[in-house]
Amino acid sequence: MIILRQKEFGFITSKIKRPLQVKIGKARVKASNKLLQSANKDAARIDLDNLRLAHSGNSFDPNSPLVRELKKEAYLKNNAQVRYVGKGTDIRFAAGHLKPKDIDISEQMIKTNMNKITQPSTRKTYKIIVNNAKRGRSTILVNPQSNSVGILAHEIGHAQNASGQAGWLKKRISDKLKTTEFQERGPADVPLKDSILRYIEERNATKNGIKLLKKKGISKPELGVAKGELEIAGRTYKNGVKGAAKMKLARKLQLPNQSAKRTYQFRPMDVSELL
Ligand SMILES: [Zn+2]
Repeated sequence: MIILRQKEFGFITSKIKRPLQVKIGKARVKASNKLLQSANKDAARIDLDNLRLAHSGNSFDPNSPLVRELKKEAYLKNNAQVRYVGKGTDIRFAAGHLKPKDIDISEQMIKTNMNKITQPSTRKTYKIIVNNAKRGRSTILVNPQSNSVGILAHEIGHAQNASGQAGWLKKRISDKLKTTEFQERGPADVPLKDSILRYIEERNATKNGIKLLKKKGISKPELGVAKGELEIAGRTYKNGVKGAAKMKLARKLQLPNQSAKRTYQFRPMDVSELL
């Protein structure tokens, strides 16, 4: 009797429960795909904002008293050397703060990279980055032809976080992040936790930077331009968090045998392409 009932039950489940499972499965895939689509839109927004930043028409004069002051401050207080890139180099990204731990200073890697890099000014930049890293110093790369002074101040803001000048909590967040890894994969394609930490780090760097600019006596119009540019830059990281959250949920919704494909290809300011 018992065996029969079990058989009967088994029959019912296979006939009724299975189509239901298929239905649920289909709904999960549909919801997941929708999320992935939305994450791709976030990625497109990031790309667009990066284009906006690259073609902002902003620039700054490296010889202005304000910029000289910023450079000095970065070097003396935050152990960070500012190196101008742009003209005559093949460096494609606009700006960055490279901590010593971001840089592979093994002889093998240096040899490989020196063979790869052909342009003299890029070779020089690479040597500076490596030498700084060996001395435990970070390098700030910034393009005066396509950035406002706000981006320079923002990068110094990162150096303040990394050096602990901005406070222990900000230093801890900075220590947890590896710049190159993040830039290679893009904000929507890293674990959500890293994406959130990165957003906080970026916001801290901007706050530091604006405070520094005010302290050094930036003019009102200049400050307006700097803030505008930094707002766009900040938005890219906010969209990164949104994208990463959607990707995470989408992967959870996928059936085990249909794990989410990463359709999203991020084209960031890529440090690895410099090397
Ligand atoms: Zn930044």
